Amino acid sequence: MAVTMGGQDGASAASGAALPAVLGGTPAFPEGLPLTRVQVPDRAELDRRFDAILTSGQLTNGDTVRELEDAAAEFLDVPHVVAVASCTSGLMLALQAFGVAGRRVVMPSFTFSATAHAAHWAGALPGFADVDHATLTLDPGSASREIDASEGSPPTVAALMATHVYGTPCHVEELDKVATEWGVPLLYDAAHAFGSRRAGAPVGGFGTAEVFSLSPTKVLAAAEGGLVATRDAALAETIRLGRGYGNPGDYDCVFPGLNARMSELHAALALVSLRTLPERVAHRGALAAAFAARIEGLPGVRLPALADGDTSTWKDLTLIVDPAEFGCGVPVLAAALKAEGIDSRRYFHPAVHVQKAYAPLHGAWRLPVTEEMADRVLTVPLWSHMDETTILRVADAVVRIQAHAARL
Ligand SMILES: *Cc1c(COP(=O)(O)O)cnc(C)c1O
Repeated sequence: MAVTMGGQDGASAASGAALPAVLGGTPAFPEGLPLTRVQVPDRAELDRRFDAILTSGQLTNGDTVRELEDAAAEFLDVPHVVAVASCTSGLMLALQAFGVAGRRVVMPSFTFSATAHAAHWAGALPGFADVDHATLTLDPGSASREIDASEGSPPTVAALMATHVYGTPCHVEELDKVATEWGVPLLYDAAHAFGSRRAGAPVGGFGTAEVFSLSPTKVLAAAEGGLVATRDAALAETIRLGRGYGNPGDYDCVFPGLNARMSELHAALALVSLRTLPERVAHRGALAAAFAARIEGLPGVRLPALADGDTSTWKDLTLIVDPAEFGCGVPVLAAALKAEGIDSRRYFHPAVHVQKAYAPLHGAWRLPVTEEMADRVLTVPLWSHMDETTILRVADAVVRIQAHAARL
């Protein structure tokens, strides 16, 4: 398809028929196409559940949260799920439980800032490692070197953390080896990945614990919320205590926890959203595949690699653009898409280690792949009830822009 666009259509493009909007062509989406659109599923069941919760007067610490935890544990095939107020608070509580204070947590810098913030709030310092060029997930070799470099001189490494970026499962087997070799817990920021699978096994059961986000841009949404999944009963119990101030019930707190509870209303939203999650993940996968097929062969643009047999939620549909081959860089492409009416976002740019919050504190990280990828990524619209025509129109806009990139 891309060959056709670049070949035959190239002639009509030259005559003006297929000009990108930025050069005077007709915009693909005059009405605008937002990056995400939240779908609230099954209003009837939601209304019924909200009504029951509001009538009961039990708005927190009730049966709905417990029902969600059980349903998520079954879906993820893990023994323990603890619902929390957000992914960030779940990560904070897990790291606090590991006892990371005063030491380093090795993590990617190519991730959402909350991954690093959680380590900060748990009293740790981030130790940034590089990502793998193909998947954009943590490079196990780089993580191992980062741990190695900091051993011996304090602060020593207390934990390893990795993010299933955009829903792409990490190199879980190799990361397990690294964590085992260094004798540290392995925590996954699985914010994007409820519904992802590694060789058929649900993300949620890997490492020491995995933490999901239920905020509105995620595929499983509850307005706000998080879920901590683990096989470790003691860890689950500590996080349960931690989400309620560290209070075991007698107000004699055993450690300084948080209020990181999920409300009953949020749990109801999550339960209703969970019911149709497999269909949403499958549909997003089909849209991503249609998009990939349409841009196949287009120079200088690719999607993150997904291993054979793995499933991604495609929480984000992110292009990786090589400016030399594509003909223009990401800011120019983003402006050209905007002229088409297509919203886009640079997930994740700037990388965490160069953000104002971290750059002055932690100095000279050598993360060449992270820095290159942060310059090259551009996330385009994808949502669970988008139709295939829409995603193909986005792909065609990218093709048109590439054909005229030299003039932009
Ligand atoms: C959204 C997100 C978070 C934060 O999730 P909250 O539920 O908003 O705390 C953490 N990490 C990643 C990678 C995210 O995308």
